[in-house]
Amino acid sequence: MKYLLAVALFFFVLWIWRTAQGTRSGKQAPPASRAPEQMVKCAHCGVNQPVSESILTHGRYYCCNAHRNEAESVDD
Ligand SMILES: [Zn+2]
Repeated sequence: MKYLLAVALFFFVLWIWRTAQGTRSGKQAPPASRAPEQMVKCAHCGVNQPVSESILTHGRYYCCNAHRNEAESVDD
C-alpha cells in the first residue's frame, strides 16, 4: 500500500512539473514581422503606399494610373 502511494505521489509530482513546464514554454513571443516595405508618396495626391504598389514614371511615384496621367498632363 505504501508503494502504491509513493507511485501515485510520483506521478502527481510529475504531472505538476509538466503542467508548470507547459505554461512556461507554451506561449512564446510571436515571430518578428517582416521588415517594413519602403513607403513612397504619390507625387499627385501625396498618399503614402508601399513602393511595390506604386507606379514609377520619370523618377516620380504615383498611387494609380489616373494620378500618373493627370500629373503628366499637367506637366505638359
Ligand atoms: Zn495619388
